[in-house]
Amino acid sequence: MALRAILGGTFNPPHYGHIKPALSLLDSIGVSALGLMPCKIAPHKQVSVNENHRVNMVELCCTEDPRLYVESLELSLPSPSYTVRTLECLQQKHQDSICFFIGADSLYNIESWFEWERLLDYCHLVVMRRDGERFSPPSSIVAWLDANKTDDYSQLHEKQHGCVILADTPLHPVSSTELRSAVASTSSAQADLLKKWVPPKVIDYIDTHQLYQDLSN
Ligand code: ATP
Repeated sequence: MALRAILGGTFNPPHYGHIKPALSLLDSIGVSALGLMPCKIAPHKQVSVNENHRVNMVELCCTEDPRLYVESLELSLPSPSYTVRTLECLQQKHQDSICFFIGADSLYNIESWFEWERLLDYCHLVVMRRDGERFSPPSSIVAWLDANKTDDYSQLHEKQHGCVILADTPLHPVSSTELRSAVASTSSAQADLLKKWVPPKVIDYIDTHQLYQDLSN
């Protein structure tokens, strides 16, 4: 069964912290492309920039690297968009195995996801480092992690689903929250932060559409 790499997110806005660590893993995993999958409504997040803007920004982000494409499936699914349902639909649509990328912060909150224990029925989870030197999951998921984690990337091809990889990705210390604040700020240091982490075409899009001008966004 072929393997498909997907990074889901709010992408509000998309930034290099999303794509660089994920792209750095594609060769090790043995896949040639990474689908960026904007979520329709994140049940745990308030998102005031509409779906179209987020998708347009993700499309612009994909012009940064030929291995990137937009996976828009979740946008056509009924709300609210629960990841476990989206993964089930993705698997049915493409008939292949899915490596679903998440950041370590998402792993640490995974128990708050709808039917989280069924996630591994539909995908492998590839976890990217987000902060700090080591992974430090909450004790409540350690037994689940120990039962499913592997360092052996070939398992991702041998099994159709069910593996967790804690990947030693380079740290990219940035979040969309910080970048939204940077847009709203007038300081030159914040403008530099944006240039460092956001693809130029996405910055132009944010300027053109006057996104994130106040912090309630
Ligand atoms: P926000 O600050 O609005 O909460 P975010 O920067 O965390 O947003 P999301 O779109 O919510 O971005 O993230 C999508 C996925 O990418 C999540 O699994 C998240 O953990 C991961 N991710 C986001 N930023 C990074 C980063 N800098 N390094 C590694 N993973 C990241």
